[in-house]
This record gives sequence, C-alpha cells and structure tokens, in this order.
Amino acid sequence: MSEIFAIDIKGLKKSYGSVQALRGVNLSVKTGEILGFLGPNGAGKTTTIRCMLDLIRPQAGTIKILGSDPAKEPVAVRSRIGYLPGELILEGNQTVKGALQYFADLRGHKTDWKYVRQLTERLELDLEQKIKNLSKGNKQKVGIVLALMNKPELLLLDEPTSGLDPLMQQEVYKLLQEAKAEGTTIFFSSHIISEVEAIAERVVIIRDGVIVEEVEPKELVDMALRRYRVRFRVPVEPSEFSHLPGVSIVRQMSDTELLLQVEGEVDLLIKALAGKKVADLQSEHLSLEEVFLAYYQKNKE
Ligand code: ATP
Repeated sequence: MSEIFAIDIKGLKKSYGSVQALRGVNLSVKTGEILGFLGPNGAGKTTTIRCMLDLIRPQAGTIKILGSDPAKEPVAVRSRIGYLPGELILEGNQTVKGALQYFADLRGHKTDWKYVRQLTERLELDLEQKIKNLSKGNKQKVGIVLALMNKPELLLLDEPTSGLDPLMQQEVYKLLQEAKAEGTTIFFSSHIISEVEAIAERVVIIRDGVIVEEVEPKELVDMALRRYRVRFRVPVEPSEFSHLPGVSIVRQMSDTELLLQVEGEVDLLIKALAGKKVADLQSEHLSLEEVFLAYYQKNKE
C-alpha cells in the first residue's frame, strides 16, 4: 500500500561537534510529489538527505521514508531509493558500464540495460569510457543514471544538475518529469532559484538548519533579486530609474553607466530602458544568501 507521505520528518536535529547543522527540521513530501529543497551553502540540505538514508544518525527527531524508519531498516529503505550524492565517489579504472554494474550488484538489482542505454544516450554519456577520464559534468551524469536506472519509488537528489551545461540540465529536468509521470516521488536540493522554479511543484526553504519558509515555485519570482549593469549612449539621470517600484541604484559608475538592482519582476525596468539608447546590458547573478538577506531584510521593514 502506498503511503500518503513518501517522506515524513519531525524535529530533526544533527550537530557535528559544536556545529548545529539541523536545529529541528520538520518536512513532509507527498507520494508522487516533486519537492525542491532550497537553501544557501551550508544550510543543512546534504545533512538532511544523509539522515534520510541513515548514512548519518541524527541526535533527535523521527524520520519515516516510504513508511519505514531508515535507522531500523536501512537496506530495505535504500533499495527503494535512487540517490544522487553531492559528491559521487567512483573507482577511476572502471568503465562507466562497470561502475553502473558494480552499484546494481551491490544493491542486488537486476539491471535493465536497455533502459540504461536509453538514459546514457539521452545524456550523451559513453558507457565504455573510463571513469578517470570523465569531466565533472560527465561524472554527474553517471550519478544521475545510477539514481534513475532501477526506477526507484523515491529519488533523493543532492544538487542534480551541478556541473551540467544548460542543454543537459534541460534533459535532466525532462527525465525527472518522466519519472514523476510514472509515480516516482522526487526530493531534490538546490541553491539555484531558477532550477527549483523549473521543476519543483512545492518549495521548502532551509537556512541555518531550520525551515524558514514553504512557497509555491511561482512565488519565487518575488524573491528573485537581479542586478543589471547598463551602459547608455548618452548621459542619463539615475532618478529616472530609482523611482520605479522595486528598482534601486547600487552604483553610478559614470553619467552613462549604472548598476541597478531589481526586486521581483523586471518588466518595469525593461520598459523604462526601452525608451533610452542602451549600448550594453549585462545581468549579474547574486548568490542565494544575498537574495535571502535582501528578502528577509525587506520583510522585516
Ligand atoms: P551545500 O549547498 O554547500 O552543499 P548544505 O546545505 O548541503 O550546503 P550541509 O552540507 O548539510 O549544508 O552542512 C550544514 C552545516 O554542517 C555546515 O555548517 C557544514 O559546514 C557543517 N557540516 C557538514 N558536514 C560536516 C562534517 N562532516 N563535519 C563538520 N561539519 C559539517
């Protein structure tokens, strides 16, 4: 019988010595759902995932994965999960095929090579390549195939598209949508807002070891914070832009160059710029922590 919740976590606490990585995490994911677990570096995402797999033990809290306690039944629970770790450790002298075989044997699964070939072809991954000759992105693809190849009930993915180029990222998003269509529950961590926006149905945000918010992906656009460096052909008056809602001037480099910051939708700025002679426009990415700082600062005001 399938459970209502594929993941049900209550009051999870984990410290590494004096570092409190998780300070009472409550989290549930419905069966068949795609949940994005968003948080800046060091927020506790990997620690939460590793507790779910019983790779590390929490000091407090309860965890139910697919209806079972992973600390009591680690092997049974893991055999129903496809896990993509943040850093995959593979034996360098093996071929990709050998590595996939090795892990499948370890889990006692019979490999469906036809399906594996479909996956590797779509990800443009050569099965005969030696692991030690693979780029970071290609190693990441091996991890993705490993997670998906046994069609698990639950996918736990730590930063799934790390190191992949934009086209491959899109292919991975498609693979995940297909897995979901077959009923797989997907829990993935990320510190990239756009990635979470692209695939998650629901987003949980963790910061400093606690869940700070739960949002719909479409609400993330309100959290987005962008910076644009604009060079004009003729001098401009900064106040023409700073009076726009959500727009502020970070720096005025010269009378023809501005660094602007936009909170939320960028539409009004684009319309204002359309009336000017713009020589160049560059967007700058902000880290999630910078976005959070601005967002929570604003909400405190
Ligand atoms: P990232 O996005 O950088 O992977 P994260 O959200 O996955 O970050 P965690 O790796 O879970 O965060 O780390 C949470 C906190 O616990 C951080 O302060 C980190 O430095 C600390 N930490 C993680 N693993 C260990 C460890 N083995 N020993 C000591 N401290 C650790």
